[in-house]
Amino acid sequence: MEIKTFGVIGAGQMGNGIAQVAAMSGLDVVMNDIKNEFVERGLATISKFFDKGIEKGKLSVQQKEAVLARITLSTDIKDMAGADFVVEAATEQEDLKFQIFRNLDQVCRPGVILGSNTSSIPIGRIAAQTQRPDKVIGMHFMNPVPLMKLIEVIRGIATSEETFKITWDLSVKFGKTPAEANDFPGFIANRILMPMINEAVFALYHNVGSREAIDTVMKLGMNHPMGPLALADLIGLDTCLAIMETLYDGFKDSKYRPCPLLRKYVEAGWLGRKTQRGFYEY
Ligand code: NAD
Repeated sequence: MEIKTFGVIGAGQMGNGIAQVAAMSGLDVVMNDIKNEFVERGLATISKFFDKGIEKGKLSVQQKEAVLARITLSTDIKDMAGADFVVEAATEQEDLKFQIFRNLDQVCRPGVILGSNTSSIPIGRIAAQTQRPDKVIGMHFMNPVPLMKLIEVIRGIATSEETFKITWDLSVKFGKTPAEANDFPGFIANRILMPMINEAVFALYHNVGSREAIDTVMKLGMNHPMGPLALADLIGLDTCLAIMETLYDGFKDSKYRPCPLLRKYVEAGWLGRKTQRGFYEY
């Protein structure tokens, strides 16, 4: 099946970025969220990305107009009926994603591949919600999507070879470099990244150093482009906590226990940049 129309569930920081790269690769895009204001905010983020690019002379007004014209906004999952490939990038909550996949399975045509941008929820468990487990796959973009080159493509236990190949080729069409991972908690990226971030939060919690000192050590000492606490703020502290919980539940190994300070921030609604407050103030 030729992929012409690409569906995205969730218009948050990842969803609107995914919609943008799909539209930039020439696909028609349907971007869905639960409220009008959320899809509109998603579209405004895309528009701002282009405005910055135009200012710097890297993008043109024509490119912006062409991309925006290819994106249709939706608040009804039934609008995915016309999609040839769907990626879900809704909030990192298992029950929520399960419901979305049950709905997508009803709405989308039988041959359509359903990808998830989940950071950590097992692809096999998501696939089991549908009657098409062979067509369910992990398509894990990095943040910020338009700038980051990697897509982790995750095979669930039932994912077919054809589904894998189509998703791999689509990643290349998006101008990204795919890397293959198997379906274990956190896959590759978050299995390695998130315990490091969690350890940085423990270092803050134990007062080994200030937030600035911890981030400076990792930036200048390890050549990381961002410190782990600033990166956690960018990712979203709720997402970080959800990933640590998945690692902890999945392996039942205490080395993955989320730092109590991370939980405390999330409980306070300090979720990072998206709420203007996390380890830093924005
Ligand atoms: P976000 O909070 O910015 O956006 C999530 C969006 O999903 C919200 O706009 C919310 O309204 C929407 N949503 C919730 N329920 C929905 C439903 N039933 N139908 C449609 N939309 C719904 O979160 P995000 O950072 O964009 O993360 C989204 C997904 O991407 C998560 O699975 C996360 O783990 C994954 N991810 C995040 C990052 C990151 O750095 N933030 C990186 C890679 C993957």
